[in-house]
Amino acid sequence: MKLSERALSIKPSPTLAMDAKAKALKAAGEDIVNFGVGEPDFDTPDNIKEAAIKAIRDGFTKYTPVGGIDELKTAIIEKFRADNNLTYEKDEVIVSCGAKHSLYNIAEALFGPGDEVIIPSPYWVTYPDQVILNDAVPVVASTDEKNSFKITPDLLREKLSARTKALILNTPSNPTGLAYDRKNLEAIAELAVKHDFYIISDEIYEKLTYDGFSHASIAALGDDIKKRTIVVNGLSKSHAMTGWRIGFAAGPREIIQAMTNIQSQSTSNPASISQKAAVEALKGPQDFIPKMVAEFDSRRKYMVERLNKIKGVSCITPVGAFYAFPNVSSCYGKKFQDRTINSSLDLSAYLLEQAKAALVPGMAFGDDRFIRLSYATSTENIKKGLDRIEEALTQLI
Ligand SMILES: *Cc1c(COP(=O)(O)O)cnc(C)c1O
Repeated sequence: MKLSERALSIKPSPTLAMDAKAKALKAAGEDIVNFGVGEPDFDTPDNIKEAAIKAIRDGFTKYTPVGGIDELKTAIIEKFRADNNLTYEKDEVIVSCGAKHSLYNIAEALFGPGDEVIIPSPYWVTYPDQVILNDAVPVVASTDEKNSFKITPDLLREKLSARTKALILNTPSNPTGLAYDRKNLEAIAELAVKHDFYIISDEIYEKLTYDGFSHASIAALGDDIKKRTIVVNGLSKSHAMTGWRIGFAAGPREIIQAMTNIQSQSTSNPASISQKAAVEALKGPQDFIPKMVAEFDSRRKYMVERLNKIKGVSCITPVGAFYAFPNVSSCYGKKFQDRTINSSLDLSAYLLEQAKAALVPGMAFGDDRFIRLSYATSTENIKKGLDRIEEALTQLI
């Protein structure tokens, strides 16, 4: 058998792989605390489930228009207006099988051989592979804790070339939990307009913010930048709907049309039943969200405080999403018995064995100095897991 160059050029999602490994160990009876999860540990609200059940009962079980039913597009347009001060028409919106699918459609619609796509690191694991899958070149711009993991105008300028096609922004960010404020976004928008490249703005964690941080969409900063931005969002994180597979994108008509054509030849419409559930998610009561956010917030505070008390660990306080991203590089070079820890991969493997705690090595996100711990798990679990991690790390000498 000979697989395609394309298939050979990519790797499976390391975060999903880590999650699978932790789940397998758990299933085998091991008492694993799983900090690897990338989804809310809350159940989808009942009103949303009921809307899906009703859709099935009503026989709403057939193909729909490829880019989503009108009713859902209207609800999405209203969401963009109310939350982001953005105005779109129906042909500027597409509903896909998850935000990841929207992002993939964008990559197929925009990227080709030789195109360069700037990706600030630490990045969400999927971005570089989606660029590579479409024969373009990921240009990684390494950001630093000192700048709260944000790409600065200087760093962006350094990475620009005549071949720059787009910049992928993720705010609030997975894995760092940090977010761009309006001023940061203005500086980036100015460069995008001046050098004429697209912004792909992944805002999936928009609703999960803390400490009064207020999310802004770069597309809302003016017509010039709106013309160059495709905003991606979805319901997986905000409404605990990861399994339903509903994401969406909004942007220039020509790009959305191309994405819809691609979708029409690959997946067709997202599940009709999930689309009806999504209408309810967007239009029904939203009180579920602040309750979930309040719970995440208290876990966030607890986790960050605990991490910073562990010798050799330093963790910047996230303002969004549900991840802590501590710097653990001062553990590197240390030993447990005969074994030396030299990387985030070594440390993650050590913590899985020694502390029975599963987490994701920073290397997966393009920065080996860090590890990612999700707090989308109960406070009780977080406490247990951090006790064990603390114990295991103090054994390194
Ligand atoms: C979870 C996640 C997504 C994808 O969500 P879907 O389930 O595909 O809607 C996209 N971007 C980031 C940064 C994520 O963490």
